[in-house]
Amino acid sequence: MKKNIFFIANWKMNLSAQQTRALTNGIMPTVKKYGNLMTLAIAPSFPMLQDVLNISRRSVRMQVCAQDCFWEQSGAYTGEVSPDMLAEMGCTHVLIGHSERRIYLHETDAMIQKKLACIFAMKKNIIPVLCVGETTRQKKAGRSEEIIHAQLTAALAGITLKSSQKLVIAYEPVWAIGSGIPMTPDEFGACAVRIRGYVSRAFGGQGRADSVVLYGGSVTPETARAYVSAGGDGVLVGGASQRIDSCTALIRTLCMK
Ligand code: PEP
Repeated sequence: MKKNIFFIANWKMNLSAQQTRALTNGIMPTVKKYGNLMTLAIAPSFPMLQDVLNISRRSVRMQVCAQDCFWEQSGAYTGEVSPDMLAEMGCTHVLIGHSERRIYLHETDAMIQKKLACIFAMKKNIIPVLCVGETTRQKKAGRSEEIIHAQLTAALAGITLKSSQKLVIAYEPVWAIGSGIPMTPDEFGACAVRIRGYVSRAFGGQGRADSVVLYGGSVTPETARAYVSAGGDGVLVGGASQRIDSCTALIRTLCMK
């Protein structure tokens, strides 16, 4: 059976409420048309989640992803949002450890591990999308593999998954995000194999060699399909997902034979 391609549209801290609704409505017909081949999870900013959730009810292939969450389910944590709250709203996914949070909010591997532990301890299901990737300096020092391995090992330390629980890994080299300089699909294909191996080992080699691995970093409609052909399960896209024309083009090209 052909796998269903997974596409996450990260709208970051962009788009007004009106723009968010217009974009979500605008891509809905394309999502419906290609829904047998792919699933789109939209990651709008927190105040826009409910608007996107309302529109997403028109297709099971349009899902909603939060851009972050905290590592406790409730308490005196002003400004934070719990995984339980997001799941209750209807979010299916949540980004964890996006490099922009690691850079600007100083999120550490230990914080990321606590977020994953909190998510996997809950009864309601929300799927974490764990973002990993090396910086330019780390790449230049030849440390890419070491860094990805270390990030995955630290994030998954002490975590066990029930059979119903899922994990998505987004490999996003920091140097490729928003830079217009993507990793080549072939390089990504080799990384995806290694990442599946690391994840499998982190879970004691048991049944997780099939984890969903996405590529992110300057993906465009012209390049998106190549990352799937190279062995990825889909893509996480920022800039090119934030306009109707390029977002619908991404969906169409991802679904090309
Ligand atoms: C991202 O936001 O994770 C991302 C990959 O952005 P861009 O596609 O703009 O590089």
